[in-house]
Amino acid sequence: MERVNRVKAIIFGAPGAGKGTYSTRLQNQLGVDVIAMGDIFRESVKQNSELGKKVKNYVEKGALVPDNVVVEVLKNRLNQIPPNTGFLLDGFPRTIEQATTLEHIAKIDVILQLDVPDEIIIERLSSRRICKNCNAVYNIRFLKPKVEGKCDKCSSELYQRPDDNIEVIKNRLHIYKTQTEPLIAYYKQKNIPFIVSITRSLDSPPEPMVIKMLADLKALGMG
Ligand code: ADP
Ligand code: ZN
Repeated sequence: MERVNRVKAIIFGAPGAGKGTYSTRLQNQLGVDVIAMGDIFRESVKQNSELGKKVKNYVEKGALVPDNVVVEVLKNRLNQIPPNTGFLLDGFPRTIEQATTLEHIAKIDVILQLDVPDEIIIERLSSRRICKNCNAVYNIRFLKPKVEGKCDKCSSELYQRPDDNIEVIKNRLHIYKTQTEPLIAYYKQKNIPFIVSITRSLDSPPEPMVIKMLADLKALGMG
């Protein structure tokens, strides 16, 4: 029987654009692994592992972790992906240098771009909450959990990320604009297909957008 090679995608967008939210929802539908750099770093900080000690200061300030550290983590994580399982990269690459490195490691089929204006991002990030256990993303204003303060999926406690405060949010957005956004032109020039999901309202629920994205992927023969 013919083996299916699952999609290898980058989920791309500003902080708070919804990368984590989309990834979790796309994950089951597509049968792919999600590699979420920020989640890996936060977990290692929590565990106070060697990696955690290296990245703590950067993550708390919203600064970029040095490329050699990030690339090492990515390689390790990609090695754990079973054969014929695709992946979604959430939070990598974030610089042109990282993108060039990625070219030597894996071939990307498609970029899933989330386009959200700054005003919405700042509003969202300052009211965002994350599950301590499974990293599911909520928002106390726009995407509430069923029970206040508890994760719908695993009932664990929700918390606010320390980098979701206004000063650090501004820093993350600045880094995004100057270092990460140029990747759009970079990948367009490489002729990698894009699927763009545009949000223009604060309370747009993700489900219909995810369904649309799945349909677009299918249309490209990647669903
Ligand atoms: P965001 O919500 O801003 O997209 P993430 O959860 O993806 O945040 O990442 C959190 C932090 O982890 C970043 O602010 C940065 O310090 C670090 N980080 C994540 N991915 C990378 C990367 N590819 N390169 C460098 N640093 C990274
Ligand atoms: Zn949870």
